[in-house]
Amino acid sequence: MAEIRLDQVTKAFGSVTAVDDVSVTIADGEFLVLVGPSGCGKSTLLRMIAGLEQATAGAIWIGERDVTELPPRSRDVAMVFQTYALYPHMTVRQNMGYGLKARRTPKPEIARRVDDVAELLGMSDLLDRRPAQLSGGQRQRVAMGRAIVRQPQAFLLDEPLSNLDAKLRVGMRASLAQLHQRLGVTTVYVTHDQTEAMTLGQRVAVMRDGRILQCDRPQALYGRPENLFIAAFIGSPAMNLVEAAIEGDTVRFGQYRIPLATRPDAGRVVLGIRPESFEDAAFAPGRPTISVHVEVLEELGSDAHVFFHVDAPPKTAEVLESASEGGLLAADRALFTARVDARTAARVGGTLALAVDPARFHFFDPETGDRLEAAAAPQLVGAR
Ligand code: ATP
Repeated sequence: MAEIRLDQVTKAFGSVTAVDDVSVTIADGEFLVLVGPSGCGKSTLLRMIAGLEQATAGAIWIGERDVTELPPRSRDVAMVFQTYALYPHMTVRQNMGYGLKARRTPKPEIARRVDDVAELLGMSDLLDRRPAQLSGGQRQRVAMGRAIVRQPQAFLLDEPLSNLDAKLRVGMRASLAQLHQRLGVTTVYVTHDQTEAMTLGQRVAVMRDGRILQCDRPQALYGRPENLFIAAFIGSPAMNLVEAAIEGDTVRFGQYRIPLATRPDAGRVVLGIRPESFEDAAFAPGRPTISVHVEVLEELGSDAHVFFHVDAPPKTAEVLESASEGGLLAADRALFTARVDARTAARVGGTLALAVDPARFHFFDPETGDRLEAAAAPQLVGAR
């Protein structure tokens, strides 16, 4: 086990800068998730820690050692790939022991470690099978097992669950979390799936265009996203984001005006409202309400999603970007999602009174996308 420290790490492939001046320290025993859209540089960053890519600039430390120039085999880390990369002609036992054999570990020691790990992963009865005789989930466990028997300083996992079907993925996610609790090995985990990131990571680093935009505990990313991109990326259903105007102690967006609990020091803002900050007014008396036209209703049993239009331009991170390129994605109405009590009387085509909680509003700068601090203005104290 060891701390991993990245110090101003950059990787360029010709004119493409895949990783751009990244500094982050992963604590000894921590589970850090790198998440971001395709092409943001997360796999490249992981491969640089593994030594599979050479850094163009910067330094990488594992424990007390500067490993920047070391080849992969000298770094004492174990990587698990999306494809598992199992040897088809070898049994599970041989696959799991292969790394140790290559390092000339004595045979009895290999057998003991493989048996221990197979028991830990609940696959002692699979040791004599070949990969072709295993399910996807079992193959994934063999790949994890092969990493664990090596007792490395760190695990580097690149989308290890993405070849599994959705239900299995949820189960394997829980076992991975449990495994980390038991072994306590420093782990860096790459995924493009924000739910996986939020449920597994002790901290989550959100990447975009080769940079880490925010690295924080999941609750902090969700509750205090530092910019529009993170606000839009983290959370499902996504945060509703729309152009709005601060007018006195109210905020106006499209056809609606709502009294504020806190206000940013700005006139024009992007207003962010998470779907669960709405509620069917029948179940949230005493809050400000808006009357909406129900366009779509998704009844999920546990709750219901109500979709409605707001007559103001949506402001997702993509829209923010395309604005400078001629506004290809520009739309003049935003489709909002509200998550409400399953007992809602909402009907498609009807109107619904929705309560909102202004204390949970987020505000962003419409030009830069940065989070705007909102303070309880003196005139708002006691306002409804
Ligand atoms: P994905 O989830 O699609 O794998 P990612 O976030 O892991 O994406 P990377 O694979 O790290 O992204 O790629 C980051 C950028 O670097 C991309 O623009 C990619 O095209 C480029 N890139 C990655 N590897 C190479 C390479 N070997 N040669 C040239 N360009 C590369």
